[in-house]
Amino acid sequence: MYNDKESQKIVDIIQNYARKHSLFVLAYGTGCGAIEIPPTMTSRYDAERFGIRGAATPRQADVLLITGYLATKSLKRVIKVYEQMQDPKYVIGFGSCTINGGMYWDSYNTINVLDKYLPVDVYINGCMPRPEAVIAGFVKLQKQIQAGKADGWDKYKKNLDYYKENQKKVITNWVMPDFNW
Ligand code: SF4
Repeated sequence: MYNDKESQKIVDIIQNYARKHSLFVLAYGTGCGAIEIPPTMTSRYDAERFGIRGAATPRQADVLLITGYLATKSLKRVIKVYEQMQDPKYVIGFGSCTINGGMYWDSYNTINVLDKYLPVDVYINGCMPRPEAVIAGFVKLQKQIQAGKADGWDKYKKNLDYYKENQKKVITNWVMPDFNW
């Protein structure tokens, strides 16, 4: 017989196995890297064979894909979208612009480090990343999910003050609740 802790561990393994093979993706096409999403999802690279497919709304999505630079005015919408997604949820930062600003590192109206505003589980580097790199990024996320280490959604809740402080520094017209869940 298994004790409660062991039983929960087995349930977690099964749940995580199912989760990693059923990733509904909401692609927020902020930057030029968005152009690599269609070939990734269609027959040439066929991301669906990994269980990766598109989602129509935030509430149906597991993964938020930020495809490149993010203007400060778009950040507000992205936060609203992220907070409408159900837990557990994951964020992938796509392209150099999400990592350090890329070629827009000194732009007055884009953010540089996405992780200061939303919890990023996986970054895919490149400018722009090819479909092979995008799929490799998703496989990395799947490994994290299976290991129970894709916990950005939990960190967001636990460090909400940190994220809100950073978000409000760049969003000057903050006219929405501090969180939407
Ligand atoms: S990383 Fe390159 S391709 Fe992606 S949004 Fe930035 S400039 Fe565009």
